[in-house]
Amino acid sequence: VLDVQAVHKRFGDQPVLRGIDLTVDRHEVVVLIGASGSGKSTLLKTINLLEQVDDGRIFLGDEDITDPRVDTDRVRARIGVVFQHYNLFPHMNVLDNVTLAARKVFGTARADAERTGLALLARIGLADKAKEYPDRLSGGQQQRVAIARAIATDPELLLLDEITSALDPQLVGEVLDLVGDLKAAGSTIVMATHEMSFARRVADRVVYLKDGVIIESGPPEQIFDRPQREETREFLSRVR
Ligand code: ATP
Ligand code: MG
Repeated sequence: VLDVQAVHKRFGDQPVLRGIDLTVDRHEVVVLIGASGSGKSTLLKTINLLEQVDDGRIFLGDEDITDPRVDTDRVRARIGVVFQHYNLFPHMNVLDNVTLAARKVFGTARADAERTGLALLARIGLADKAKEYPDRLSGGQQQRVAIARAIATDPELLLLDEITSALDPQLVGEVLDLVGDLKAAGSTIVMATHEMSFARRVADRVVYLKDGVIIESGPPEQIFDRPQREETREFLSRVR
């Protein structure tokens, strides 16, 4: 689904991504870990075309999405994204948030979009909140709605960036459980997280990023139990 090839990105004279190679297969869940400032969010943003790469290429399916002639909106319509906070439109109710992209980007009729949207809300246990405004929901519920919105148009790829780090600890579980459900349902996901126990549980592959370089990448058992690189070992000993 996704093929990141030798991607470089710098901000001013600070190199932030220094030759990232990463392929993600269909139905695969790849979890990015690494210290604050290591480049996780920047990598996700280059994939979503929120940041332009300085060098290298990114393929989504067969399409080189870093080609300057590419239609950015059309590429973004194929990718679902959830960030740490401020995901929902505060002036729209939950159902309108979830159905907006289908209606505006894909031109789906309101009735059809709402039928799909309500089914999705039922799936995440929030059907009764359809007409509620975001500020009346808990942080965990808001993030679940944000995830529902991101998957409402059935994207090829889902990018999740620290989606639980702004939540109270007791709300983290419900959001991570939903990500587990998406994985079980076959979604293709790249997510950045500081939740190591969750990474271990849900990841097909864990990628450890340091200073814009992938130091080590492998199944969770390798990264967490038998890291091959000293840097990985050192990072993990600091975070757990
Ligand atoms: P965290 O775990 O704190 O979310 P991260 O791994 O997501 O960290 P990034 O947000 O990708 O890290 O940032 C990587 C580096 O790039 C940091 O040094 C940051 O200050 C810098 N950076 C990110 N965005 C910009 C920007 N728009 N302009 C300038 N520098 C930026
Ligand atoms: Mg980040």
